This record gives sequence, C-alpha cells and structure tokens, in this order.
Amino acid sequence: MKKKLLTLCLAGTLVIGGTSITSPLVNAAGNGPNYGGNETINTSILSTYQEMVDFLEKQEAKQERMEIEVIGQTVKGRDIHLVKYISNPENPTILYLTQQHGNEQLTTEGTLEFIKHLGTGKTKGVLDHVNVLILPMLNADGAMGDVNFSLEDYIASGDRHLTRYNANGVDINRDHIDKIEPETQALHENVLQKYDIDYMIDLHHQGADRVINGDELVSGSILYPTTPNVKEDVVEKSKQLGAVVYNELSPKGWALLGKYPGGSAETIARNGVAVQYDIATLLFEMRGMSDHNDPSRVIGQKSNGYLIKQTVNTLDATLRAVADGSINNQDVSFWDTLPEQTTKTNE
Ligand SMILES: [Zn+2]
Repeated sequence: MKKKLLTLCLAGTLVIGGTSITSPLVNAAGNGPNYGGNETINTSILSTYQEMVDFLEKQEAKQERMEIEVIGQTVKGRDIHLVKYISNPENPTILYLTQQHGNEQLTTEGTLEFIKHLGTGKTKGVLDHVNVLILPMLNADGAMGDVNFSLEDYIASGDRHLTRYNANGVDINRDHIDKIEPETQALHENVLQKYDIDYMIDLHHQGADRVINGDELVSGSILYPTTPNVKEDVVEKSKQLGAVVYNELSPKGWALLGKYPGGSAETIARNGVAVQYDIATLLFEMRGMSDHNDPSRVIGQKSNGYLIKQTVNTLDATLRAVADGSINNQDVSFWDTLPEQTTKTNE
C-alpha cells in the first residue's frame, strides 16, 4: 500500500520535471496548481501514522544499518520513532526533523522515500562518514487529526483532517524553551541532549501564496538561526547547510527558493536548538499545507510530486556534503542577495 503510494508520487515528479524543460526556468518554479477552492485536496492519499510505522519497521528489517528507537509518546500515547544510521560515533551527525506541525505532511512523505533510498546501495560509502538521525512526524496526533478540539472548518476532504497543533492545542514549535509538551520533551531529552548532533534541518510547509521578485511563487524558503545569542560559528555552519540546499535546488526547473522572514524568538527550533545545543540549524519551509481552515495555506495535491522531490533532494545533498566534508567549503555569500519572500497580493 505504502510502496504503491510513494511510487505514484515519484511518477508525478517525472511528469512535472518533463514539462518544466519546455518552460522558462523561473516561470516553471512554484507553479504547481494552487488550491483556489476548486483543486482536489484529499488527505486519504497521505500516509497515516500507522502506515508510516509499518513502513519503518519493514525498512528496519530489510536495512542492516538502520535502527529504530522509540523516544517517547505523544499526548494521545502514540510512540514517537527516531530512525538512526550510526556507523561511527566520531562521524559528524545530522538530524532531519519533520511535522512538528501536523498539517505539513509532504516533508514526511519525502523523508520516508529518502529512508528507502538509504537502503538501496546508492548511498553506499556515504553512510560510513556521516551519522544520520531522522525524526519523521513528531506531531503524530495533529497529523492524524486526533486532537482535543474541533477541526470541522478545515478544508481538505478525505478520511481525516490534519492540524498544526498537538492534541492539547499547543504549537510544538513554540515550546522549545519551556518544553512542556510530551513531544517537545521527547525530542529534547532523548535526541538533542542524548546525541552529539552537528546539523539539523527542521522541515515545514508554509502558505501557498509566498513570492519573491514581486510575483514569482516560491517552492520554499530557507533560513539560518537569527537570534543574537547564537554563536557566530554556529550561524556560519548553518549558512553553509543552507548553501548546500540552495546549490542543489536552484538548478531545478521546479524549484525557486526565497529567504524566510524570521525573527529572534528562541521558542522555535531554528533558534532555540542552535542556542541551547550549538547545533547548526536550517529551517526549510516548503510550499503549501496538506490541510487548514485558511484556503491560502493549502495546496492542491498535483504539487505533491515536486514537493516530495524537493525534500528527497534536500536530504540527499546535505547528507553527502556532510559526509565528504564539502559542507565546510560552501560559499555563503548567496544569503546576502537571496530575496526575502513576501505574501502575494491579490490583484
Ligand atoms: Zn510548520
């Protein structure tokens, strides 16, 4: 079931990739169908929590290097899974985190595809030089719509709604100082404080209507930590992490990246994790959400292919750059000219 779904998504990527060849690069980017009220958004095609767990357990049985650790439980008692590829404690370690916000699911779909990819031998040799931690779907209750508040005004059709908040109605990505929620506690106590992590990419989805250069829809936006309390070398390493992502995606016809307009709050992971653990962090906000009560936030499912691909490429490129050390030679000057995104104004 799961395998079929992912294959379908990748087939969609190929079609989109094919059409973009004939279009001017800039115009092709981010131009997947918007919602607009008449586009299909059906949450039934997304992996359920249980489908994800079944997939991970199957991969663990197949992949010699892969190991699953349960790091805690959600408010509703769902096990939170950490996927680990640890070859040598001396290696640099990168953490990929998805779905702190339960309605931002394509990053998780891409991450599952990446886990499958890690078992195919295409990364043979790479995993000898880097340790990988993957935490998919941190907010599983929100992703399953199993929460203690109403989602009846949410837009998507399908067998469930997905919401940003955890079951208690809390935004987990505002809880990285207080660490009150069980999901945040599990992440901090059993991952961030337990493993020696050098890099983290925090994967999200943003509104579907974000643009740069006036009216060009972006496929996503990125940002390094921007609180004055982060050490300078951590900021530099974070910018290098962003450079790897930028250099990987910019040549793709379907990708267009803006700079995320972020602040200095340390309650969010991008800033809080960098300050508390000296981990280099990158926020990656992909275009459009899987469900919401605000139509400008969601995106039609015909965009799934390139957004999943954007996640897979991001993870693959950063994994390789950390493994071969090329991340340390990245030119970070592109950050000075990367346009900050704005919200598209309705003409
Ligand atoms: Zn988010």
